[in-house]
Amino acid sequence: MKIERVVTHVLDAPLREPFESASMRMGRRQNVLVEIVCDDGTVGWGECLGPALPNAAVVKAYEPWLIGADPLETEKIWITLYNALRDQGQRGLTVTALSGIDIALWDIKGRHFGVPVSILLGGRFRERVQAYATGGFRKSPGTRKRDICEEISGYMEQGFRAAKIKIGFDVREDLEIIEALRSLIPAEARLMIDANHGYDVIEAVRLGNAAAQYDIDWFEEPVVPEQPAAYREVRRGQPIPVAGGETWHTRWGMKEPLETRCVDILQPDVCGCGGFSEIKRIADMATLHGVRVVPHVWGTAVQIAASLQFMAALPPDPQRPSPIAPMLEFDRTENPFRQAVVSEPIEHDVGWVSVPDGPGLGIEINRDALREFAMKGSG
Ligand SMILES: [Mg+2]
Repeated sequence: MKIERVVTHVLDAPLREPFESASMRMGRRQNVLVEIVCDDGTVGWGECLGPALPNAAVVKAYEPWLIGADPLETEKIWITLYNALRDQGQRGLTVTALSGIDIALWDIKGRHFGVPVSILLGGRFRERVQAYATGGFRKSPGTRKRDICEEISGYMEQGFRAAKIKIGFDVREDLEIIEALRSLIPAEARLMIDANHGYDVIEAVRLGNAAAQYDIDWFEEPVVPEQPAAYREVRRGQPIPVAGGETWHTRWGMKEPLETRCVDILQPDVCGCGGFSEIKRIADMATLHGVRVVPHVWGTAVQIAASLQFMAALPPDPQRPSPIAPMLEFDRTENPFRQAVVSEPIEHDVGWVSVPDGPGLGIEINRDALREFAMKGSG
């Protein structure tokens, strides 16, 4: 089997209601899917985290090294592509593009052997995963508190017992919202906060100390990801477990955060950190340092399926009768093509999501949706 073609599908859709985190404003959803076609007709799918058009361009830049290669040789291909752009590309788009390619290759490998990727990764420790609802973005500054309370209450009514909201706008206002939410949702519901690196150390420490009384599971990306020492200051300065890692790439990018304990919870994104080949290594590194892994997920059903395959194969750590299980980040904000791109949507059942058990990623792509949501001029 040899790789014959590499195709990128750039998807684009406007949103009815724009929303924002501390670090970005979203008026459209744009994602890129990677399709790798082999000479025997086998097709694999992947997805890249981050800006769609630049990712698609880098995927295409890797094409000369892919054509004619054996898609089953995932490790050999990974390091060949990494080395090809290494000198200027140790992190960022070179790695997010490589991630989408690597995921498509593992999808091919699973289809070739007739097993899910989770089996190829070593086996399934779980068949379903508890999901947490990601939402609570700012839609309008004037009605932010009311909007978030209504939204998160809705998730609880749907059966979710964990949710994450966006903070990092203003310490005082963020605290008011956290306090209101904690009194609104069931006592057993888990609540997480994500600053999208909108604070500096002083603000993050202040927020964390004041918010600790509201039983917060983790405080995500308190400060900018380029400052490991600032992460350590936030960890030392306040009691809420610190999470981060969605923008850190490859084993080399995770080394310092793990070795110097920047985070209590590491959040690699399979579509960003280097694909299945690399996230497996990163998870192994985390076990060396006693750091919990809860993957970041922000994309279409292709990314959700890939994350579920990885999470199914994450060994329980520490071992005990009812072990800690990883939680699936389940983005609840508007994305018109999130589930349309697959023939069977990956949905939750009162807050739990099943791991697909078909070969590869366990999904089939709906090509009608790829045509419907194709970015104009991108095909
Ligand atoms: Mg985040």
